[in-house]
Amino acid sequence: MLRLTEIKLPLGHAENALPDAILQTLDITPAEMARFAVFKRSFDARKAVIMQVYIVDVTLASAALEAQLLATHAGNPHIFATPDMAYHPVGSAPANLPLRPVVVGFGPCGMFAALVLAQMGFKPIVLERGKTVRERTKDTWGLWRKGELNPDSNVQFGEGGAGTFSDGKLWSQITDPRHLTRKVLTEFVKAGAPDEILYVSKPHIGTFRLVGMIEKMRAEIEALGGEAIANTDSVATPEGGEAIVASAVEAFGTVDIVINNAGILRDKTFHNMTPELIDAVIDVHLRGAFYTTLPAYKIMREKNYGRIVNTTSNSGLLGNFGQSNYGAAKLGLVGFTRVLANEGAKRNIKVNAIAPVAKTRMTEELFGAAGDLMAPEAISPTVAWLAHEDVPVSGEVFSVAGGYVARYFIGLTEGWFSPGHTVEDVRDNFEAIRDDSNYDIFADPSGELMKLMGLLSPSED
Ligand SMILES: Cc1cc2nc3c(=O)[nH]c(=O)nc-3n(C[C@H](O)[C@H](O)[C@H](O)COP(=O)(O)OP(=O)(O)OC[C@H]3O[C@@H](n4cnc5c(N)ncnc54)[C@H](O)[C@@H]3O)c2cc1C
Repeated sequence: MLRLTEIKLPLGHAENALPDAILQTLDITPAEMARFAVFKRSFDARKAVIMQVYIVDVTLASAALEAQLLATHAGNPHIFATPDMAYHPVGSAPANLPLRPVVVGFGPCGMFAALVLAQMGFKPIVLERGKTVRERTKDTWGLWRKGELNPDSNVQFGEGGAGTFSDGKLWSQITDPRHLTRKVLTEFVKAGAPDEILYVSKPHIGTFRLVGMIEKMRAEIEALGGEAIANTDSVATPEGGEAIVASAVEAFGTVDIVINNAGILRDKTFHNMTPELIDAVIDVHLRGAFYTTLPAYKIMREKNYGRIVNTTSNSGLLGNFGQSNYGAAKLGLVGFTRVLANEGAKRNIKVNAIAPVAKTRMTEELFGAAGDLMAPEAISPTVAWLAHEDVPVSGEVFSVAGGYVARYFIGLTEGWFSPGHTVEDVRDNFEAIRDDSNYDIFADPSGELMKLMGLLSPSED
Protein backbone atom coordinates (compact mmCIF):
# COMPACT_ATOMS: atom_id res chain seq x y z
CA MET A 1 0.00 0.00 0.00
CA LEU A 2 1.24 3.51 -0.78
CA ARG A 3 0.57 6.55 1.35
CA LEU A 4 0.06 9.88 -0.41
CA THR A 5 0.06 13.06 1.63
CA GLU A 6 -0.73 16.72 0.89
CA ILE A 7 -3.42 16.12 -1.74
CA LYS A 8 -5.21 19.47 -1.73
CA LEU A 9 -8.67 19.96 -3.18
CA PRO A 10 -11.03 22.93 -2.85
CA LEU A 11 -13.79 22.73 -0.21
CA GLY A 12 -16.92 21.13 -1.68
CA HIS A 13 -15.02 19.39 -4.50
CA ALA A 14 -16.73 16.77 -6.66
CA GLU A 15 -16.70 13.19 -5.38
CA ASN A 16 -14.41 11.89 -8.12
CA ALA A 17 -11.91 14.74 -7.68
CA LEU A 18 -10.02 12.75 -5.03
CA PRO A 19 -9.52 9.50 -7.04
CA ASP A 20 -8.65 11.63 -10.05
CA ALA A 21 -6.01 13.51 -8.04
CA ILE A 22 -4.54 10.18 -6.85
CA LEU A 23 -4.31 8.81 -10.40
CA GLN A 24 -2.71 12.03 -11.56
CA THR A 25 -0.18 12.15 -8.68
CA LEU A 26 0.93 8.58 -9.30
CA ASP A 27 0.52 8.85 -13.08
CA ILE A 28 -1.44 5.58 -13.31
CA THR A 29 -4.65 4.44 -15.04
CA PRO A 30 -7.91 3.72 -13.12
CA ALA A 31 -7.37 -0.03 -13.74
CA GLU A 32 -3.99 0.12 -11.97
CA MET A 33 -5.56 1.34 -8.70
CA ALA A 34 -7.40 -1.43 -6.80
CA ARG A 35 -8.82 0.91 -4.13
CA PHE A 36 -7.98 3.79 -1.84
CA ALA A 37 -8.91 4.83 1.70
CA VAL A 38 -8.75 8.25 3.27
CA PHE A 39 -6.35 8.15 6.23
CA LYS A 40 -6.80 11.75 7.29
CA ARG A 41 -8.74 14.80 6.15
CA SER A 42 -7.97 18.31 7.39
CA PHE A 43 -8.62 21.86 6.26
CA ASP A 44 -6.26 24.61 5.16
CA ALA A 45 -8.00 27.96 5.67
CA ARG A 46 -4.94 30.16 5.46
CA LYS A 47 -5.74 31.41 1.95
CA ALA A 48 -8.84 32.95 0.40
CA VAL A 49 -9.91 29.56 -1.00
CA ILE A 50 -10.34 26.99 1.77
CA MET A 51 -8.73 23.71 0.80
CA GLN A 52 -9.32 20.16 2.02
CA VAL A 53 -6.04 18.36 2.58
CA TYR A 54 -6.03 14.58 2.29
CA ILE A 55 -3.74 11.77 3.27
CA VAL A 56 -4.76 8.59 1.44
CA ASP A 57 -3.65 4.97 1.37
CA VAL A 58 -3.70 3.46 -2.12
CA THR A 59 -3.78 -0.25 -2.90
CA LEU A 60 -2.43 -0.96 -6.37
CA ALA A 61 -3.43 -3.67 -8.81
CA SER A 62 -0.13 -5.53 -8.28
CA ALA A 63 2.81 -5.67 -5.87
CA ALA A 64 5.17 -5.16 -8.82
CA LEU A 65 3.49 -1.87 -9.69
CA GLU A 66 3.72 -0.76 -6.05
CA ALA A 67 7.47 -1.49 -6.03
CA GLN A 68 7.91 0.32 -9.33
CA LEU A 69 6.04 3.42 -8.10
CA LEU A 70 8.00 3.46 -4.85
CA ALA A 71 11.23 3.45 -6.87
CA THR A 72 9.97 6.15 -9.24
CA HIS A 73 8.93 8.42 -6.36
CA ALA A 74 11.86 7.66 -4.06
CA GLY A 75 12.80 10.90 -2.36
CA ASN A 76 9.31 12.40 -2.71
CA PRO A 77 8.27 13.10 0.92
CA HIS A 78 4.59 12.86 -0.06
CA ILE A 79 4.66 9.32 -1.49
CA PHE A 80 5.92 6.38 0.57
CA ALA A 81 4.98 2.89 1.73
CA THR A 82 2.07 2.92 4.21
CA PRO A 83 3.41 2.15 7.68
CA ASP A 84 2.16 -1.01 9.40
CA MET A 85 -0.88 0.12 11.40
CA ALA A 86 -2.37 -3.31 11.99
CA TYR A 87 -3.23 -4.20 15.56
CA HIS A 88 -0.99 -7.02 16.74
CA PRO A 89 -2.55 -8.99 19.60
CA VAL A 90 -0.23 -9.64 22.52
CA GLY A 91 -0.92 -13.38 22.41
CA SER A 92 -3.42 -16.08 21.67
CA ALA A 93 -5.22 -18.67 23.76
CA PRO A 94 -3.77 -22.18 23.82
CA ALA A 95 -6.12 -24.78 22.32
CA ASN A 96 -8.82 -26.10 24.67
CA LEU A 97 -7.87 -23.77 27.51
CA PRO A 98 -10.33 -24.64 30.30
CA LEU A 99 -9.91 -21.32 32.12
CA ARG A 100 -11.90 -18.32 30.97
CA PRO A 101 -11.27 -14.67 31.75
CA VAL A 102 -14.06 -12.73 33.44
CA VAL A 103 -14.68 -9.12 32.43
CA VAL A 104 -16.81 -7.10 34.81
CA GLY A 105 -18.75 -4.26 33.22
CA PHE A 106 -19.64 -3.78 29.54
CA GLY A 107 -18.78 -0.12 29.10
CA PRO A 108 -16.21 0.88 26.46
CA CYS A 109 -13.39 -0.44 28.61
CA GLY A 110 -14.96 -3.85 29.28
CA MET A 111 -16.32 -4.08 25.74
CA PHE A 112 -12.89 -3.77 24.13
CA ALA A 113 -11.21 -5.95 26.76
CA ALA A 114 -13.77 -8.69 26.01
CA LEU A 115 -13.59 -8.20 22.25
CA VAL A 116 -9.80 -8.38 22.08
CA LEU A 117 -9.73 -11.37 24.45
CA ALA A 118 -12.36 -13.10 22.28
CA GLN A 119 -10.37 -12.33 19.13
CA MET A 120 -7.27 -13.82 20.77
CA GLY A 121 -9.21 -17.06 21.34
CA PHE A 122 -10.02 -16.66 25.03
CA LYS A 123 -13.72 -17.05 25.62
CA PRO A 124 -14.48 -14.23 28.02
CA ILE A 125 -17.42 -14.17 30.38
CA VAL A 126 -18.76 -10.63 30.63
CA LEU A 127 -20.83 -9.68 33.67
CA GLU A 128 -22.81 -6.46 33.45
CA ARG A 129 -24.91 -5.10 36.31
CA GLY A 130 -27.24 -3.10 34.08
CA LYS A 131 -29.78 -4.04 31.44
CA THR A 132 -29.05 -4.75 27.77
CA VAL A 133 -28.54 -1.64 25.66
CA ARG A 134 -32.00 -1.82 24.00
CA GLU A 135 -33.78 -2.02 27.35
CA ARG A 136 -31.58 0.76 28.65
CA THR A 137 -32.75 2.99 25.83
CA LYS A 138 -36.28 2.92 27.27
CA ASP A 139 -35.07 3.61 30.81
CA THR A 140 -32.82 6.47 29.71
CA TRP A 141 -35.56 8.16 27.71
CA GLY A 142 -37.85 7.53 30.68
CA LEU A 143 -35.47 9.59 32.78
CA TRP A 144 -34.91 12.36 30.25
CA ARG A 145 -38.54 12.69 29.15
CA LYS A 146 -40.54 11.71 32.23
CA GLY A 147 -38.02 12.23 35.03
CA GLU A 148 -38.32 8.58 36.16
CA LEU A 149 -34.99 7.22 37.44
CA ASN A 150 -34.28 3.50 37.41
CA PRO A 151 -31.19 3.30 39.64
CA ASP A 152 -30.03 0.06 37.97
CA SER A 153 -30.57 1.02 34.35
CA ASN A 154 -29.87 4.56 33.28
CA VAL A 155 -27.47 6.82 31.44
CA GLN A 156 -24.54 5.46 33.50
CA PHE A 157 -25.32 1.81 34.17
CA GLY A 158 -25.98 -0.92 31.65
CA GLU A 159 -24.62 -2.52 28.51
CA GLY A 160 -22.58 0.06 26.60
CA GLY A 161 -21.60 1.96 29.73
CA ALA A 162 -21.76 5.69 30.34
CA GLY A 163 -21.92 7.81 27.23
CA THR A 164 -23.96 5.34 25.14
CA PHE A 165 -26.64 8.00 24.86
CA SER A 166 -24.16 10.81 24.40
CA ASP A 167 -24.18 11.35 20.63
CA GLY A 168 -20.77 9.64 20.54
CA LYS A 169 -18.40 12.55 20.15
CA LEU A 170 -14.97 11.13 19.36
CA TRP A 171 -11.53 12.58 19.63
CA SER A 172 -10.06 10.14 17.17
CA GLN A 173 -6.36 11.07 17.61
CA ILE A 174 -5.72 10.23 13.98
CA THR A 175 -2.45 12.14 13.96
CA ASP A 176 -0.93 9.85 16.60
CA PRO A 177 2.10 8.37 14.79
CA ARG A 178 1.74 5.15 16.84
CA HIS A 179 -1.88 4.71 15.65
CA LEU A 180 -2.93 3.65 19.11
CA THR A 181 -6.61 4.38 18.53
CA ARG A 182 -6.81 2.65 15.12
CA LYS A 183 -7.95 -0.68 16.55
CA VAL A 184 -10.83 0.97 18.41
CA LEU A 185 -11.88 3.05 15.41
CA THR A 186 -11.63 0.09 13.03
CA GLU A 187 -13.81 -2.06 15.31
CA PHE A 188 -16.33 0.78 15.53
CA VAL A 189 -16.50 0.99 11.73
CA LYS A 190 -16.89 -2.82 11.49
CA ALA A 191 -19.79 -2.51 13.93
CA GLY A 192 -21.52 0.20 11.88
CA ALA A 193 -19.88 3.57 12.64
CA PRO A 194 -19.40 5.89 9.65
CA ASP A 195 -16.07 5.44 7.80
CA GLU A 196 -15.17 9.07 8.40
CA ILE A 197 -14.28 8.36 12.05
CA LEU A 198 -11.08 6.89 10.63
CA TYR A 199 -9.91 10.18 9.14
CA VAL A 200 -11.78 13.07 10.77
CA SER A 201 -10.25 14.31 13.99
CA LYS A 202 -13.44 15.06 15.98
CA PRO A 203 -16.35 13.15 14.41
CA HIS A 204 -19.77 12.18 15.84
CA ILE A 205 -21.18 8.67 15.69
CA GLY A 206 -24.73 9.44 16.82
CA THR A 207 -26.67 7.86 19.69
CA PHE A 208 -28.96 5.63 17.63
CA ARG A 209 -26.02 4.19 15.73
CA LEU A 210 -24.16 3.57 19.00
CA VAL A 211 -26.94 1.31 20.30
CA GLY A 212 -26.75 -0.96 17.23
CA MET A 213 -22.94 -0.94 17.31
CA ILE A 214 -22.86 -2.16 20.90
CA GLU A 215 -25.20 -5.02 19.99
CA LYS A 216 -22.99 -5.97 17.03
CA MET A 217 -19.85 -5.96 19.18
CA ARG A 218 -21.59 -8.15 21.76
CA ALA A 219 -22.66 -10.49 18.93
CA GLU A 220 -19.04 -10.78 17.72
CA ILE A 221 -17.83 -11.63 21.23
CA GLU A 222 -20.55 -14.29 21.48
CA ALA A 223 -19.78 -15.66 18.02
CA LEU A 224 -16.17 -16.16 19.16
CA GLY A 225 -17.33 -18.20 22.17
CA GLY A 226 -17.65 -15.42 24.76
CA GLU A 227 -20.74 -14.83 26.88
CA ALA A 228 -22.31 -11.61 28.09
CA ILE A 229 -24.62 -11.82 31.05
CA ALA A 230 -26.58 -8.77 32.13
CA ASN A 231 -28.32 -8.82 35.51
CA THR A 232 -29.91 -5.94 37.38
CA ASP A 233 -31.30 -7.89 40.29
CA SER A 234 -30.57 -6.75 43.81
CA VAL A 235 -29.29 -9.12 46.48
CA ALA A 236 -31.48 -7.30 49.01
CA THR A 237 -34.67 -9.24 48.20
CA PRO A 238 -35.41 -12.98 48.09
CA GLU A 239 -36.59 -12.65 44.46
CA GLY A 240 -33.40 -10.76 43.53
CA GLY A 241 -31.17 -13.43 45.09
CA GLU A 242 -33.13 -16.20 43.31
CA ALA A 243 -32.86 -14.36 39.99
CA ILE A 244 -29.09 -13.81 40.33
CA VAL A 245 -28.52 -17.51 41.00
CA ALA A 246 -30.98 -18.48 38.24
CA SER A 247 -29.10 -16.38 35.69
CA ALA A 248 -25.79 -18.03 36.74
CA VAL A 249 -27.39 -21.48 36.39
CA GLU A 250 -28.85 -20.55 33.01
CA ALA A 251 -25.47 -19.34 31.75
CA PHE A 252 -23.17 -21.94 33.29
CA GLY A 253 -25.41 -24.88 34.20
CA THR A 254 -24.67 -24.78 37.94
CA VAL A 255 -23.20 -22.75 40.80
CA ASP A 256 -19.96 -23.81 42.50
CA ILE A 257 -18.97 -20.60 44.25
CA VAL A 258 -20.81 -17.72 45.88
CA ILE A 259 -18.91 -14.61 46.90
CA ASN A 260 -21.08 -12.27 48.91
CA ASN A 261 -19.53 -8.85 48.49
CA ALA A 262 -22.34 -6.41 47.74
CA GLY A 263 -21.95 -3.46 50.06
CA ILE A 264 -23.13 0.02 50.94
CA LEU A 265 -22.44 2.42 53.79
CA ARG A 266 -24.96 4.58 55.65
CA ASP A 267 -22.80 5.85 58.51
CA LYS A 268 -24.27 7.80 61.43
CA THR A 269 -23.44 7.91 65.10
CA PHE A 270 -25.85 5.69 66.98
CA HIS A 271 -27.92 8.49 68.51
CA ASN A 272 -28.65 9.76 64.97
CA MET A 273 -29.41 6.33 63.49
CA THR A 274 -32.80 5.91 61.76
CA PRO A 275 -34.75 2.77 60.84
CA GLU A 276 -34.13 3.53 57.13
CA LEU A 277 -30.35 3.60 57.65
CA ILE A 278 -30.47 0.37 59.64
CA ASP A 279 -32.66 -1.45 57.09
CA ALA A 280 -30.68 -0.35 54.02
CA VAL A 281 -27.41 -1.68 55.42
CA ILE A 282 -28.82 -4.88 56.96
CA ASP A 283 -30.72 -5.58 53.71
CA VAL A 284 -27.70 -5.39 51.42
CA HIS A 285 -25.01 -6.92 53.65
CA LEU A 286 -26.79 -9.44 55.83
CA ARG A 287 -30.10 -10.30 54.19
CA GLY A 288 -28.34 -10.06 50.80
CA ALA A 289 -25.97 -12.86 51.83
CA PHE A 290 -28.96 -14.99 52.93
CA TYR A 291 -30.98 -14.38 49.78
CA THR A 292 -28.13 -15.03 47.35
CA THR A 293 -26.61 -17.95 49.21
CA LEU A 294 -29.83 -19.84 49.92
CA PRO A 295 -30.76 -20.82 46.33
CA ALA A 296 -27.10 -21.59 45.55
CA TYR A 297 -26.65 -23.59 48.76
CA LYS A 298 -29.54 -25.88 47.82
CA ILE A 299 -27.78 -26.68 44.53
CA MET A 300 -24.47 -27.19 46.36
CA ARG A 301 -26.09 -29.60 48.82
CA GLU A 302 -27.44 -31.70 45.99
CA LYS A 303 -24.08 -32.05 44.30
CA ASN A 304 -22.03 -32.29 47.51
CA TYR A 305 -19.78 -29.40 46.58
CA GLY A 306 -19.67 -25.69 47.18
CA ARG A 307 -17.46 -22.81 48.23
CA ILE A 308 -18.88 -19.67 49.83
CA VAL A 309 -16.88 -16.56 50.71
CA ASN A 310 -18.57 -13.89 52.80
CA THR A 311 -17.32 -10.37 53.35
CA THR A 312 -17.24 -9.27 56.95
CA SER A 313 -15.35 -6.26 58.29
CA ASN A 314 -13.10 -5.11 61.09
CA SER A 315 -15.84 -2.54 61.65
CA GLY A 316 -17.94 -5.28 63.24
CA LEU A 317 -15.11 -7.48 64.51
CA LEU A 318 -13.46 -4.60 66.32
CA GLY A 319 -16.17 -1.91 66.41
CA ASN A 320 -15.82 1.23 64.33
CA PHE A 321 -17.21 4.60 65.41
CA GLY A 322 -20.35 5.64 63.54
CA GLN A 323 -21.00 2.24 61.98
CA SER A 324 -23.41 0.43 64.31
CA ASN A 325 -25.64 -0.63 61.38
CA TYR A 326 -22.71 -1.76 59.25
CA GLY A 327 -20.80 -3.34 62.14
CA ALA A 328 -23.84 -5.33 63.25
CA ALA A 329 -24.52 -6.55 59.71
CA LYS A 330 -20.88 -7.49 59.25
CA LEU A 331 -20.61 -9.41 62.50
CA GLY A 332 -23.90 -11.06 61.61
CA LEU A 333 -22.05 -12.40 58.58
CA VAL A 334 -19.47 -14.05 60.84
CA GLY A 335 -22.30 -15.93 62.59
CA PHE A 336 -23.72 -16.80 59.17
CA THR A 337 -20.31 -18.07 58.04
CA ARG A 338 -19.77 -20.19 61.16
CA VAL A 339 -23.22 -21.79 61.14
CA LEU A 340 -23.12 -22.53 57.41
CA ALA A 341 -19.61 -23.98 57.74
CA ASN A 342 -20.97 -26.44 60.30
CA GLU A 343 -24.13 -27.25 58.37
CA GLY A 344 -22.27 -27.66 55.07
CA ALA A 345 -19.36 -29.73 56.42
CA LYS A 346 -20.88 -33.13 55.56
CA ARG A 347 -21.55 -32.04 51.98
CA ASN A 348 -18.14 -30.61 51.16
CA ILE A 349 -19.49 -27.07 51.30
CA LYS A 350 -16.81 -24.81 52.75
CA VAL A 351 -17.71 -21.37 53.98
CA ASN A 352 -15.16 -18.74 54.97
CA ALA A 353 -15.07 -14.98 55.31
CA ILE A 354 -12.71 -12.15 54.57
CA ALA A 355 -12.46 -8.87 56.43
CA PRO A 356 -10.89 -6.74 53.68
CA VAL A 357 -9.45 -3.26 53.84
CA ALA A 358 -9.27 -1.75 50.36
CA LYS A 359 -9.92 1.45 48.50
CA THR A 360 -13.22 1.09 46.67
CA ARG A 361 -16.03 3.48 45.77
CA MET A 362 -17.50 2.59 49.18
CA THR A 363 -14.40 3.54 51.19
CA GLU A 364 -12.40 6.08 49.17
CA GLU A 365 -13.65 9.03 51.19
CA LEU A 366 -12.90 7.20 54.41
CA PHE A 367 -9.26 6.36 53.65
CA GLY A 368 -8.11 9.42 51.71
CA ALA A 369 -4.52 9.17 50.40
CA ALA A 370 -3.78 6.05 52.50
CA GLY A 371 -6.30 4.21 50.31
CA ASP A 372 -3.78 4.17 47.46
CA LEU A 373 -1.72 1.61 49.38
CA MET A 374 -4.68 -0.75 49.52
CA ALA A 375 -5.75 -1.76 46.04
CA PRO A 376 -8.89 -3.92 45.74
CA GLU A 377 -6.97 -6.40 43.57
CA ALA A 378 -4.72 -7.21 46.54
CA ILE A 379 -7.77 -8.94 48.09
CA SER A 380 -8.47 -11.23 45.12
CA PRO A 381 -5.78 -13.94 45.67
CA THR A 382 -7.16 -14.75 49.13
CA VAL A 383 -10.73 -14.84 47.82
CA ALA A 384 -9.60 -17.11 44.97
CA TRP A 385 -7.92 -19.49 47.42
CA LEU A 386 -10.95 -19.57 49.74
CA ALA A 387 -13.10 -20.36 46.70
CA HIS A 388 -10.71 -23.09 45.50
CA GLU A 389 -11.58 -26.77 45.68
CA ASP A 390 -8.40 -27.45 47.73
CA VAL A 391 -9.06 -24.86 50.45
CA PRO A 392 -8.39 -26.78 53.68
CA VAL A 393 -10.52 -24.78 56.14
CA SER A 394 -14.13 -23.80 56.73
CA GLY A 395 -15.70 -21.32 59.13
CA GLU A 396 -12.62 -19.08 59.31
CA VAL A 397 -12.19 -15.34 58.93
CA PHE A 398 -9.20 -13.65 57.28
CA SER A 399 -8.04 -10.07 57.43
CA VAL A 400 -6.77 -9.03 53.98
CA ALA A 401 -5.29 -5.66 52.95
CA GLY A 402 -2.69 -4.39 50.46
CA GLY A 403 -0.70 -7.66 50.38
CA TYR A 404 -1.24 -8.60 54.04
CA VAL A 405 -3.24 -11.69 55.06
CA ALA A 406 -3.91 -12.83 58.63
CA ARG A 407 -6.44 -14.90 60.48
CA TYR A 408 -9.00 -13.49 62.89
CA PHE A 409 -10.29 -15.97 65.41
CA ILE A 410 -12.72 -16.10 68.29
CA GLY A 411 -10.92 -17.29 71.41
CA LEU A 412 -12.27 -18.09 74.84
CA THR A 413 -10.01 -17.31 77.79
CA GLU A 414 -9.25 -20.05 80.25
CA GLY A 415 -11.58 -18.22 82.62
CA TRP A 416 -12.31 -18.65 86.28
CA PHE A 417 -14.58 -21.23 87.88
CA SER A 418 -16.16 -20.89 91.30
CA PRO A 419 -19.62 -22.40 91.87
CA GLY A 420 -21.94 -20.20 93.92
CA HIS A 421 -19.86 -17.04 93.47
CA THR A 422 -21.11 -13.57 94.31
CA VAL A 423 -20.93 -10.27 92.43
CA GLU A 424 -17.98 -9.30 94.65
CA ASP A 425 -16.22 -12.52 93.61
CA VAL A 426 -16.66 -11.56 89.94
CA ARG A 427 -15.25 -8.11 90.71
CA ASP A 428 -12.28 -9.55 92.58
CA ASN A 429 -11.47 -12.15 89.90
CA PHE A 430 -12.10 -9.96 86.91
CA GLU A 431 -8.45 -9.99 85.80
CA ALA A 432 -8.35 -13.80 85.88
CA ILE A 433 -11.60 -13.90 83.88
CA ARG A 434 -10.12 -11.60 81.26
CA ASP A 435 -6.60 -13.06 81.21
CA ASP A 436 -5.88 -13.99 77.60
CA SER A 437 -2.54 -15.73 78.12
CA ASN A 438 -4.37 -19.05 77.63
CA TYR A 439 -7.40 -19.48 75.44
CA ASP A 440 -9.38 -22.05 73.47
CA ILE A 441 -10.62 -21.80 69.90
CA PHE A 442 -13.68 -23.96 69.35
CA ALA A 443 -15.02 -25.18 66.01
CA ASP A 444 -18.60 -25.07 67.29
CA PRO A 445 -20.54 -24.76 70.58
CA SER A 446 -19.97 -28.43 71.44
CA GLY A 447 -16.32 -27.61 72.18
CA GLU A 448 -17.33 -25.06 74.78
CA LEU A 449 -19.96 -27.41 76.14
CA MET A 450 -17.30 -30.10 76.68
CA LYS A 451 -15.16 -27.60 78.55
CA LEU A 452 -18.10 -26.60 80.71
CA MET A 453 -19.03 -30.21 81.41
CA GLY A 454 -15.42 -30.87 82.45
CA LEU A 455 -15.69 -28.05 85.00
CA LEU A 456 -19.25 -28.67 86.15
CA SER A 457 -19.07 -32.44 86.51
CA PRO A 458 -15.40 -33.44 86.72
CA SER A 459 -14.76 -37.19 86.41
CA GLU A 460 -14.05 -39.11 89.62
CA ASP A 461 -10.48 -40.04 88.66
C1 LIG B 1 -23.84 11.69 29.52
C2 LIG B 1 -22.44 11.32 29.11
C3 LIG B 1 -21.97 11.72 27.88
C4 LIG B 1 -20.69 11.39 27.48
N1 LIG B 1 -20.28 11.73 26.22
C5 LIG B 1 -19.10 11.33 25.75
C6 LIG B 1 -18.71 11.58 24.41
O1 LIG B 1 -19.47 12.14 23.62
N2 LIG B 1 -17.49 11.18 24.01
C7 LIG B 1 -16.63 10.53 24.88
O2 LIG B 1 -15.52 10.16 24.45
N3 LIG B 1 -16.95 10.27 26.16
C8 LIG B 1 -18.17 10.65 26.61
N4 LIG B 1 -18.52 10.37 27.90
C9 LIG B 1 -17.56 9.70 28.76
C10 LIG B 1 -17.50 8.21 28.44
O3 LIG B 1 -18.81 7.70 28.37
C11 LIG B 1 -16.70 7.47 29.51
O4 LIG B 1 -15.38 7.97 29.48
C12 LIG B 1 -16.67 5.97 29.24
O5 LIG B 1 -17.97 5.46 29.22
C13 LIG B 1 -15.86 5.25 30.32
O6 LIG B 1 -15.85 3.88 29.99
P1 LIG B 1 -15.63 2.73 31.06
O7 LIG B 1 -15.83 1.42 30.36
O8 LIG B 1 -14.33 2.97 31.75
O9 LIG B 1 -16.76 2.97 32.18
P2 LIG B 1 -18.35 2.94 32.05
O10 LIG B 1 -18.77 3.42 30.72
O11 LIG B 1 -18.87 3.64 33.26
O12 LIG B 1 -18.71 1.41 32.13
C14 LIG B 1 -18.73 0.68 33.32
C15 LIG B 1 -19.74 -0.45 33.15
O13 LIG B 1 -19.64 -1.32 34.27
C16 LIG B 1 -20.94 -1.64 34.72
N5 LIG B 1 -20.80 -1.98 36.15
C17 LIG B 1 -20.58 -1.13 37.19
N6 LIG B 1 -20.50 -1.83 38.34
C18 LIG B 1 -20.65 -3.14 38.02
C19 LIG B 1 -20.67 -4.36 38.77
N7 LIG B 1 -20.51 -4.37 40.09
N8 LIG B 1 -20.89 -5.53 38.11
C20 LIG B 1 -21.07 -5.55 36.77
N9 LIG B 1 -21.07 -4.43 36.01
C21 LIG B 1 -20.84 -3.25 36.62
C22 LIG B 1 -21.78 -0.41 34.44
O14 LIG B 1 -23.16 -0.73 34.34
C23 LIG B 1 -21.19 0.04 33.10
O15 LIG B 1 -21.82 -0.56 32.02
C24 LIG B 1 -19.82 10.68 28.34
C25 LIG B 1 -20.30 10.28 29.59
C26 LIG B 1 -21.59 10.59 29.98
C27 LIG B 1 -22.09 10.12 31.33
